[in-house]
Amino acid sequence: MSESVVQDLRERLVKAGMEIYAHGFVPGTVGNISARIPNTDTILIKPSGVSMGALKLDDLAVVDLQGKQIQGELSLSIETPMHTAIYRTRDDVRGVVHSHAPTATAFGVAGIEILPILIEMFLFIPNGVPIVPFEFPGTQELAEVVEKKIKDFDAVILENHGIVTVGPSIEDACNLNIMVEECAKTQFIATLLAGPDAITMEKIREKFKL
Ligand code: 13P
Ligand code: ZN
Repeated sequence: MSESVVQDLRERLVKAGMEIYAHGFVPGTVGNISARIPNTDTILIKPSGVSMGALKLDDLAVVDLQGKQIQGELSLSIETPMHTAIYRTRDDVRGVVHSHAPTATAFGVAGIEILPILIEMFLFIPNGVPIVPFEFPGTQELAEVVEKKIKDFDAVILENHGIVTVGPSIEDACNLNIMVEECAKTQFIATLLAGPDAITMEKIREKFKL
């Protein structure tokens, strides 16, 4: 693998981290981000306890899909088992973003799934965003429940914790994170306006004719 390809990916990850930070989805040092190094079974991943808004190129570690650190000085994100489990189970995934996007996370506290109420969202994730049952951050158990759900969904809510989005590139995973939060905000306001029973999956499918 050429060093310039890895360097380019480092730059894209740092940029994506900044964007998620600028949106206010990862206050302090929460959240994590990773990308598969093209044509390898290795990823670049953020270190633990570093702000996504202050990531430096060399902070990012190279890790194999079993979680073994190959390069990097800092300790790995505690969610490395979750990221590697996703790449092991989804060959099409090239980028993973875990954030604590506030409105979407509130849905995971309330136990309400985010529905694909906006057409742009529906085109990307027609089945919405399910909630993965609570497991403690950084555990193998969390990695396992996420792995199970992410087989069928590109975005999931971690109950009482945050959200995870994946995509064919780190930019796609980042955009989906932003879209999920936008959808959650709109669903929240629409529910206040129209009542809790007004928005259903049936009505959404009927509207978008699928
Ligand atoms: P890290 O700083 O170890 O990546 O953990 C942040 C987080 O959000 C854990 O779920
Ligand atoms: Zn988290």
